Amino acid sequence: MKLLLHICCACCLCAPLDELRKEGFRVTGLFYNPNIHPLLEFRRRLKALRVFQESDPIPVIYHEDYGLREYLRGVNYEGDDRCADCYAMRLKFAVSYARQNGFDSFTSTMLFSVYQNHEQLKIISENLSQEHGIHFVYRDYRSLSECSQDIARKKMLYRQGYCGCVFSEYERYKDTTREMYKGNNSHGKVTETVTKQVPIKNGLQRCDCLG
Ligand code: SF4
Ligand code: SF4
Repeated sequence: MKLLLHICCACCLCAPLDELRKEGFRVTGLFYNPNIHPLLEFRRRLKALRVFQESDPIPVIYHEDYGLREYLRGVNYEGDDRCADCYAMRLKFAVSYARQNGFDSFTSTMLFSVYQNHEQLKIISENLSQEHGIHFVYRDYRSLSECSQDIARKKMLYRQGYCGCVFSEYERYKDTTREMYKGNNSHGKVTETVTKQVPIKNGLQRCDCLG
């Protein structure tokens, strides 16, 4: 079965990809993520997937346009549930692409993340599947999340610190501050100034691969 796998970055892909192949799926990736901001972060995640391909030649279709305006047009970011719009935007694109390009089925790495709203993703995908007549491959690989992160570390892949949009970046870091301290050498002399992110209190964290 020809499966189109929507991929938002390489982190959640590492372990589930082999599982899908073991089941006999011929997997092609689709990178379409207008939700990733700002531009340099978008480029980093796109590049991480290219780096992943160096050791695993999965074919990938890249949508390389930076989609900030598209995201802002399509998502009700002032409401409480921008993620539903964001999921739907990306999955609709994936389903349409699958239908127009001879794929039998689709799914998304978002379903493999412990940080995403799994049930909401499942419902949106099932509805799109019925609407467009493309089979939705539902798999819950959240148990492989740690394994995926280990592989990503070994492959030295870029691992992001927040889900994607500027709102998630704010939610991730708003309760942190930067702490400055001096490093000393064995003679007690100051050698360098180091800064690090310090959590003030627990905040919403999504896709926190750096944790
Ligand atoms: S870590 Fe987040 S952005 Fe990366 S593949 Fe998983 S769900 Fe997508
Ligand atoms: S937090 Fe993640 S899923 Fe939600 S709107 Fe932002 S990028 Fe999309």
